[in-house]
Amino acid sequence: MKIKSDYSNEPQWKEVNIKSSLPKELACLDEIAHNLWYGWTHEARSLFTRLDEDLYEKVGHNPVLLLEQLSYDRKEAIVKDKDLMKRVKDVYKMFTDYMNVKPNAKRPSVAYFCMEFGLNQVLKIYSGGLGMLAGDYLKEASDSNVDLCAVGFLYRFGYFRQSLSMDGEQIAKYDAQTFNSLPIERVLDADGNQMRVEVPYNNYIVHALVWQVNVGRIKLYLLDTDNEMNSEFDRPITHALYGGDWENRIKQEILLGIGGILTLKKLGIKKDIYHCNEGHAALCNLQRLCDYVEQGLTFNQAMELVRASSLYTVHTPVPAGHDYFDEVLFSKYMSGYPAKLGITWDEFIGMGRTNPDDHSERFCMSTFACNTSQEINGVSRLHGWVSQKMFAPLWKGYFPEENHVGYVTNGVHFPTWAATEWRRVYNKYFDKNFMADQSNESIWHAIYDVPDAEIWETRMALKNKLIKYIRDKFTQQWLRNQGDPAKVVSILEKINPNALMIGFCRRFATYKRAHLLFTDLERLEKIVNNPERPVLFFFSGKAHPADGAGQGLIKRIFEISRMPQFLGKIIFLEDYDMELARRLVSGVDIWMNTPTRPLEASGTSGEKAEMNGVVNLSVLDGWW
Ligand SMILES: *Cc1c(COP(=O)(O)O)cnc(C)c1O
Repeated sequence: MKIKSDYSNEPQWKEVNIKSSLPKELACLDEIAHNLWYGWTHEARSLFTRLDEDLYEKVGHNPVLLLEQLSYDRKEAIVKDKDLMKRVKDVYKMFTDYMNVKPNAKRPSVAYFCMEFGLNQVLKIYSGGLGMLAGDYLKEASDSNVDLCAVGFLYRFGYFRQSLSMDGEQIAKYDAQTFNSLPIERVLDADGNQMRVEVPYNNYIVHALVWQVNVGRIKLYLLDTDNEMNSEFDRPITHALYGGDWENRIKQEILLGIGGILTLKKLGIKKDIYHCNEGHAALCNLQRLCDYVEQGLTFNQAMELVRASSLYTVHTPVPAGHDYFDEVLFSKYMSGYPAKLGITWDEFIGMGRTNPDDHSERFCMSTFACNTSQEINGVSRLHGWVSQKMFAPLWKGYFPEENHVGYVTNGVHFPTWAATEWRRVYNKYFDKNFMADQSNESIWHAIYDVPDAEIWETRMALKNKLIKYIRDKFTQQWLRNQGDPAKVVSILEKINPNALMIGFCRRFATYKRAHLLFTDLERLEKIVNNPERPVLFFFSGKAHPADGAGQGLIKRIFEISRMPQFLGKIIFLEDYDMELARRLVSGVDIWMNTPTRPLEASGTSGEKAEMNGVVNLSVLDGWW
C-alpha cells in the first residue's frame, strides 16, 4: 500500500477483523462451528464440550467463542491427544457426509421470509413460537434435502433478556450482540467486501449488510442496517425484534420484503415458490410485481405470475393481531409504487383493504398477502377453519369453506428437541429408518417393546438433570436480584425430585391464561402440599415489554410463589429461552397448556414434550 503524504495529518480508519488462528489439524472445527448443524448433532456438541468443558460453559456453549478463546497450551494438548483427534476426524466426516447430499431437484425450490428465527440460543434473533417454528422449519428442510433459502434480520439487540425485581416486576434488558463472535459469516461480493444491498425508501436509500447463517445445507441470509452508511434514523431498523413504533415497523417490513427480494436478486438466487411466513414479509410480493412490470408485463400479467408462485402462512387467529398502517404513514414510504406498477394510488392501497373503496380503512399486510398469494394456510386444522372465517370478508359472495385457505399442522425438529437420553432409547428399539421416516406411525409401535423400567429410568435421569440445571443456574441469579439468601436457598433446596412436576412455559400473552391455575388458591395449596403425592409447578415465559397485562400475570404468579404455603412448590424461572425450554420439555412429568380456545393457532411446545415421554395436558386447542 502506498501512503500518500496528505494522509499524515488525518487518522485513516479501516475496519480490520482479527481472528485467532487454529492449528491446521483443528481448522475443520471452525467450519463446524460456523454451521448450526452442530447444535442438533449430539456428537458435535459433545466434541466441543471435550475440547474444554469449563470454557465451553463459560462462553455459553458458543463454539465460535470457544475456538477463539482456547489457550495455546490447550490447542497443543488437543492436537497431541490421539483419541480426541480421532473424534475430531469422525465428527468432521459426519459433517461432510451430511453436507455432500444434494437437494432434491424434483421438488419445487423455496425462498422463505420471516421476521425471526429460533435456531440456537447463541443467536438471539427470535422471541417465541413463530421464530421457533421458522428455525425448526429450516433445520427440517435441511434434513429432508429441500432446495430452500431464507431471509431474515440480524438484530443488534434481538429480543430482551428477562429478570424479575424483588417484587416480581419484569425487567427487560437488551444486550448488544457482537456479530464477530456468532456462528455466522459475512457474505462477500466479487471484491471481497461484505455484500450490501441498497433498499429504496421513497426518496432515499437504506444500506443493508448481508450476513449468512449456515443451517445444515440451508442458507439463511440476514440483513443488518446498523452501519455508518445509514442515518441515525435508519440504523435502528434492525436493532430490536418487535420493538420501536409503527414507523420503525413499516421500515422493517420494507426491508424484509423488498430488501429481501433485492438481496436474492443480488445473490443471483431464483426460486419456484416465495413463502411469506406471517404477514410481516408480504411486501416481497410487491417487489416481485415491480420486477415483472419492469420486464414489460402488464400489472395483471405480473399479478398472475406472482400469485401462482406465492404461499402465505398465517399464524394469527384474530384480526387485531395483524399489522395495519394508516394511509399517511403508508404513503410516506410507498407513494412511488403505483407509478412503478402502472396503477392508481387507490388501486394500490386497496390491495391491503378488505373493502378497497373504504378510505378510512388502514393498509393491512395480511390482506395484501392474501390478495397476492395463490395459497394460504393456517397452522392446525382448527386454526385453518378459524382463518377461513377470519379472512372470509375478503372474498365476498363465497362461504368461508370455499376460500383458498387451507392448513398444515406445525411440527418441531426432532433432533433439536428430543433429549440425547431418549434418542438412545429410540436408536436401540426403533427401526433403523426411524430418523428418515418419523411420521410413520408403525415405527413408533416399537415403544411398547421398551421395558417400563427403562422408560422410568430415562425419565428420572432427565428429571434430576433438570433439577440440577435449575439449582446451578438460578442460585446466583436469585441471590443477586431477589435478596434474602436464606429464602433463595430454601426454595431451591425444597425442590423435591419425587414430586409430580408440571411445567407451564411460554410467552405470557393473556390468551394463554397462565393465571387459570390460581383461581382457587386453597384447593391448590392442598394439592401441592399433599404429603403422599406432592406436586410442583414450574412457570416460565416473557411478557412483551408493552404488554402490561402479561407483566401483571408474571407479578401475580411471582407473589403467589413467595407465599409460605407455595414456597418451593410454585417456581417462576426467569428468561425463558431455547436452552431452558429444552431442559423443561424433557425434565418435567406433565406439560400444561390452558389457552382460551381457539386462540392458540398451533402451539408447539407440547409436541416437544411428547418426544421426551412427557404427558401433554391441554385445552383442546391448536395442534392438540
Ligand atoms: C417451543 C417454544 C415456544 C413455543 O411454545 P408454544 O407452546 O407454541 O407457546 C416458545 N419459546 C420457546 C423458547 C420454545 O422453545
